Amino acid sequence: MHGIKRVIFSKKSRVQYIDIIETYDYGLMLILDGKVQSTIRDEHFYHEALVHPIMTAHPRPEKVLIIGGGEGATLREVLRHPTVKQVIMVDIDIDVIKCSKEYLPQLSSGAFEDKRTNLIISDGRKFVESCKEKFDVIIIDVTDPLEEGPGQFLYTVEFYEAVKRVLNDNGIMVTQATSIYYSTYCFTTIYRTIKKVFEKAGCYSTWTPAYDSMWGFVYGSKGPDPKSLSKDDIDAILNQRGLINTKYYNGKIHEKLFILPKEIEEQLEKGGIATDKSPTFMPA
Ligand code: SAM
Repeated sequence: MHGIKRVIFSKKSRVQYIDIIETYDYGLMLILDGKVQSTIRDEHFYHEALVHPIMTAHPRPEKVLIIGGGEGATLREVLRHPTVKQVIMVDIDIDVIKCSKEYLPQLSSGAFEDKRTNLIISDGRKFVESCKEKFDVIIIDVTDPLEEGPGQFLYTVEFYEAVKRVLNDNGIMVTQATSIYYSTYCFTTIYRTIKKVFEKAGCYSTWTPAYDSMWGFVYGSKGPDPKSLSKDDIDAILNQRGLINTKYYNGKIHEKLFILPKEIEEQLEKGGIATDKSPTFMPA
């Protein structure tokens, strides 16, 4: 899919294959188990769309949990909200964090050194199931549900029930939810699964050039519904929080994110949900 200039780093960690390569079109690129995760040139489409719709919808996000997000760009975007007092980030693979800090420091931009950050190396599911704390916002930025992959049990109804338990009243969660085109059934299954657990649930998507697809996100809320915020509401909140130099996200983009192609909308309610016994998988 992408012309490679040179391979910068390659390793099989305890958890997955990690590659960092330099490409002609997207500059440096992080790849896990053969799948593109982030590129220097276009990562802001994905990370701003993952983080800001729910962070902005929450009236005062102070305590945030990030599961996954090893390269640190999700953490970087969360910390831009001045309301945030503490972020716990739980990633299963210390090697992704180490090599991202060394070869792709632009992605975290010092976020791991921020005194509000508490990094924990653990399986996100185990962490949530044994967690005694509660959070205002939970962002799940783990690798796609690949068969035998480390993220497969972070897309099931049992996991989302555990996530709901550690959300404060008014809390909102969001997860990346794979490609709406290449893996439509997986995307709509994640939507139906979250909808089974949360009274308010919704989905949206953004174009992500390096994934060569519209990328899906699904949220569940115990409080505000991000979709109900208008362009003007979003711009006012971004202004108030001093978040004016985003590269991609603003009120206009917020409204656009929620417009799904008709053929995808029509499939949202058709099909089953993902359970631990029968998880959903993205086609390899
Ligand atoms: N942007 C990406 C995408 O769409 O595929 C996700 C990016 S991020 C690099 C994925 C992170 O999830 C990796 O750092 C990986 O180690 C982490 N991860 C995978 N399974 C996990 C689990 N069970 N618990 C915590 N972190 C996990």
